[in-house]
Amino acid sequence: MGAEDLGLVVIVGGGIAAVRAAERLAERGFTGRVDIVAAEPGPPYRRPLLTSVASGRLDASQLQLSPRLPARTRWRGGRRATGLDPDARRVFLDDGRALPYDGLIIATGAVPRTLPGARRANDRVHTLRTLDDAHRLARGLRDARRLLIVGGGTIGCEAAAALRNRGLPTTLVELGPALLGDVVGPRMGEAFTVWHRRHRVDVRCSVGVATWDQHRAGVRAELTDGAVVEADVALVAVGAWPDVGWLADSGFDLGDGVLCGPTTHVVGAEDVVAAGDCARWPNLRFDESPRRVGHSANATAMGRHAADALLDGVEATAPFTPIPWGFTEQFGACTQLVGRPSAGVSFVDVEGRPSVMRGAVAAFDGRGRFVGGTIAGARPAARWVHDAVAASCPAPPSMPRVSWDPEPHLRPRPSAARVDDRVQQAHRVEQMPAWPGPPRRAEDRSAGGEQPRGALH
Ligand SMILES: Cc1cc2nc3c(=O)[nH]c(=O)nc-3n(C[C@H](O)[C@H](O)[C@H](O)COP(=O)(O)OP(=O)(O)OC[C@H]3O[C@@H](n4cnc5c(N)ncnc54)[C@H](O)[C@@H]3O)c2cc1C
Repeated sequence: MGAEDLGLVVIVGGGIAAVRAAERLAERGFTGRVDIVAAEPGPPYRRPLLTSVASGRLDASQLQLSPRLPARTRWRGGRRATGLDPDARRVFLDDGRALPYDGLIIATGAVPRTLPGARRANDRVHTLRTLDDAHRLARGLRDARRLLIVGGGTIGCEAAAALRNRGLPTTLVELGPALLGDVVGPRMGEAFTVWHRRHRVDVRCSVGVATWDQHRAGVRAELTDGAVVEADVALVAVGAWPDVGWLADSGFDLGDGVLCGPTTHVVGAEDVVAAGDCARWPNLRFDESPRRVGHSANATAMGRHAADALLDGVEATAPFTPIPWGFTEQFGACTQLVGRPSAGVSFVDVEGRPSVMRGAVAAFDGRGRFVGGTIAGARPAARWVHDAVAASCPAPPSMPRVSWDPEPHLRPRPSAARVDDRVQQAHRVEQMPAWPGPPRRAEDRSAGGEQPRGALH
């Protein structure tokens, strides 16, 4: 399959991965027809800013994206794909239509997980994934006196910061020993925990929800340590599932997201690629295990790569080997995540004072490779961490086509041990590059506020 075989491309999903894929088709001069099937009715928007809409800091219009789409694009908003026949090359829609395609891009993102018994039955109990969810949460918070957030990952922590800043007493419950531990590793997780407590969030770590009782006036949650938390509004932020249910009859491996090879082509179909939160692929820079990455920057880069992969065909496409980059702002501390800090088993402070959210921590995996870093407080060290990860985990040569065997990955495997368990293992830090000190002033200026070079497109 190559560009000359493509007259009609269908993109399913209307998020950032879908939009960036369509833009890339336009940049590449694609002259065929593009059909974008997007379940949400409105224009595409920046999902990471939803907590700011929920807290009233931003208006929905400030989130909107203005994509530069190919000339012959039809945006089918408010329409959901319900099935796929890859042999007949047809996508089925909820209005009964079947859309033919020559090439298909799957970018349907993820949907929030929830807790047993937690129902979004009234404006008291919430999840946060869409603009509708953010408006609903904002309504629920209007007369709220206490907020309970379950889940200390990125969304839970960002929401706690945004809403505590508004003066709302907030309890944040996290199953792991530290906030964001699964994202940044235990060392920075501890710093985030202290940071939230310092800003008067009532943080409860190492506890789960034992019983959940929701009623008209709010929620009563009994925690696994016996404590009871009552709140009139609750946000359940316990992660997200890939939104791939509509592919159930496709024959694709849907384990934790649709399984792709290193180039983002879906395993079993060379005319189908996938991108963003719904896709699982092996980033050969780090290892051969296919994984999902739930970052906006990854969805952007992967959407663009998937469009190239569709145009160029599997033989001529380089593997997708980004150095992940993410960003979060909580109580004024801007934190960048570079590489895979959560894969670390050893952590070393390389600059400043990370424990008070002003410095950088490097993460090393069990083989002693520098796999990532967390940089708190808008430090210029992000560029250095990026380059050090690139040197320690080089991308494989892309041509001729890389070999990767999907067979061992075709069935869901047990989830990896928690970072905190892995940290208990004995390990040695090797290949620790010397911290060169802050960049010179001119470099400093060019690094300020930017993502590390090459991490994003
Ligand atoms: C509150 C919040 C805060 C976040 N904060 C950050 C952050 O600080 N930093 C960061 O890097 N990332 C953050 N993220 C994650 C980031 O937003 C996602 O990684 C990114 O949006 C993924 O983009 P995507 O296009 O893959 O999926 P999505 O943005 O989920 O888009 C998928 C789209 O596909 C549509 N769809 C689903 N199924 C179908 C179907 N069958 N037919 C048609 N359309 C369908 C969905 O309705 C959705 O509009 C945050 C996410 C949330 C929710």
